[in-house]
Amino acid sequence: MAVHAHPDDETISMGGTLARYAAPASTDSDVIVVTSTRGELGEIVIPERDTPEEHARLGETRMGEIAAAMAALGVQHFENLGYRDSGMDGDAGNDDPRSFHQHLLTDPDGTVAPLVRLVRTHQPHVIATYDDFGGYGHPDHIAAAKIARRAWELAADAAWRPDLGAAWSAKKLYEVRIPDSIRDKTLALLESRGMESWWSEPKDAPPEELEKWRAWRAKMACSDDLITTKIEIAAQMPAKRRAIEAHATQIRRDGPLLALSIDDVIAISPYEQFRLIAHRLDAEPTLPESDLFAGLR
Ligand SMILES: [Zn+2]
Repeated sequence: MAVHAHPDDETISMGGTLARYAAPASTDSDVIVVTSTRGELGEIVIPERDTPEEHARLGETRMGEIAAAMAALGVQHFENLGYRDSGMDGDAGNDDPRSFHQHLLTDPDGTVAPLVRLVRTHQPHVIATYDDFGGYGHPDHIAAAKIARRAWELAADAAWRPDLGAAWSAKKLYEVRIPDSIRDKTLALLESRGMESWWSEPKDAPPEELEKWRAWRAKMACSDDLITTKIEIAAQMPAKRRAIEAHATQIRRDGPLLALSIDDVIAISPYEQFRLIAHRLDAEPTLPESDLFAGLR
């Protein structure tokens, strides 16, 4: 089970891994993607579609896009928790009482309950989500990381909300990470081609702002030695790319995610990378791993 914030995050962060485990040949074919919001406050990157009418139905549009992305990845089962997108950190959407961020602040147990129900119903062995910073500090990503961790605990607690189903103890909990080395290689290749990305240092920023920006960028990646698990996804890269393209309103065709070719991306690294942050295995896992289900087969 993968727990995410908005449609597109699942594909960008771990689409290859989802495709790999969802493949019919895989013995772990029951992959479930859970998205917390419909991403209705995202930007629309196609200029001619960046209109008030398109924004008013962006949630529906993005649900259609994730359906197409899941088809590309071969994932048959995806769920949406129905919270409202909170917008970027500091946006007015953060204060909207319908937002995921506000729900979690005002009713933490109620907010995690639908995810606990899904965990108890579908009984995943592995749960994967973001690190505490939600990858890049977006309030919905931080909230998704929080409810995934809470659901890992609460779903296993038979005394907690028995109305949501019989207790289920998932065996492994992961956060998806980008190691510093991959960030540096990706940034170098993009810059060598004259392309800016979210990792490119802002030009002409005052020193104070630059320092803040550098601290933020440092939190978006992690030291390579924190990685416990590398999933090889070279064979899944074409499917991942089709799924990225399916998120058409969110991901620029000429932006960093699609500007590099599949061969470029594989040359940088043919892996998606994870950190095992909790487990309930009988024995300590042997690390590093190349399989999220290591120790469970
Ligand atoms: Zn997101």
